[in-house]
Amino acid sequence: MLMGIVLLGSTGSIGRSTLAVLRENREHFRLLALAAGGNTQLLEKQIAEFAPQAVSVRGEKAARGLKERFPRLQVLHGAAGLDELVSLPGCDCVVAAINGTDGMAAAFQAIRLKRRLCLANKETLVAAGELILREARACGAEVLPIDSEQSAIFQCLQGSTRHVRRVILTASGGPFFREKTRDFSTITVEQALAHPTWSMGRKITIDSATLMNKALEIIEASHLFNLKPEQIDVVIHPQSVVHSLVEFIDSSVLAQLGIPDMKLPILYSLTHPGRVAGSCPSLDLPALRQLDFFPVDPRRFPSIPMAYAVLRQGQNAGAVFNTANEVAVDYFLSGRIGFAAIFSVVARMLERMDLQPLRNLEDVLETIAFTRSETIAHIENEVMK
Ligand code: NDP
Repeated sequence: MLMGIVLLGSTGSIGRSTLAVLRENREHFRLLALAAGGNTQLLEKQIAEFAPQAVSVRGEKAARGLKERFPRLQVLHGAAGLDELVSLPGCDCVVAAINGTDGMAAAFQAIRLKRRLCLANKETLVAAGELILREARACGAEVLPIDSEQSAIFQCLQGSTRHVRRVILTASGGPFFREKTRDFSTITVEQALAHPTWSMGRKITIDSATLMNKALEIIEASHLFNLKPEQIDVVIHPQSVVHSLVEFIDSSVLAQLGIPDMKLPILYSLTHPGRVAGSCPSLDLPALRQLDFFPVDPRRFPSIPMAYAVLRQGQNAGAVFNTANEVAVDYFLSGRIGFAAIFSVVARMLERMDLQPLRNLEDVLETIAFTRSETIAHIENEVMK
């Protein structure tokens, strides 16, 4: 039987890669529904190609426009639209690839309905990892990582964290890792968006340059695999071929390798525990000739020590960290603050916010809303003055 897929975030980088995977594997998957934000031009092309039974967009006006163009299509909008999509009968699996936290409630709903949740959206795990995984255990729903590093660890663990000494997350290092004397305050948006190995959305590309992406992954890994902070290490690996490693108590190390293409972990998350033939080229090790690994300098990239501090603090620190970073990146991308300010803004918000326990999704959303307004106020009153 074909697996029924609902894809949230179809017009983004992960969304487009997911559609490429589905296009190549029509004998395994059936695309039921798509959700996008505001890029209706691309969404219309996707509707024409994949003929989903329903779509959802961020705003009501865009939804009305789509309904006029596709009268027989079920067209929804907003958070309720995402909820309806994951609730469609015949949905076996939800690919969560909306950036930020707009798709968080739909991810919870997918879990409650026992859908397989293929999670690209690391922000959901960083902000609400404990809650979402507890819910998944209670409901018997599977949460499978799409993030390439987490997928690598997941594949190496083969279902058990017994005997794990530590995991080693690899980081490409972003565009500035080799520029040891580079003054971070002079970095432009264009320079920060020039990622050396991966082609991704704008926000995650900036996170790769600050290593905030790796910081988020430290927190993500801790939740996904139930690891203590001291069991998670990071190493810079500029070629992005070794996607991450697991070291066991006998010092044996397993790694997962592959070309840097998100189609690989996306396909694996859909087919686990099986595998199907993919179109990605084989890894040509002689052509690569060498694989390099370097330690991270925590003074140049304070994002990494911040992640360990967040893990030790627990409660809603992950939601504060993620939201403050999201706001700071947004201000950087629109040219209103400098690159180095991303670190100082996030550190300031972690210092300033009162930590609270997270009892439910409402608590998470409240932390996000409050942190967002506090971060904006801090940037506008103290950083941009
Ligand atoms: P993009 O910015 O490229 O895409 C984001 C997608 O979310 C777009 O389709 C956008 O729609 C959609 N979207 C945004 N807001 C809404 C909303 N309110 N309702 C419906 N759709 C919405 O991001 P990426 O694909 O790069 O990343 C997606 C997620 O995956 C992120 O959480 C990221 O951290 C994670 N990830 C990404 C990787 C990558 O290689 N790109 C690797 C690992 C993880 P539109 O464009 O139409 O506005």
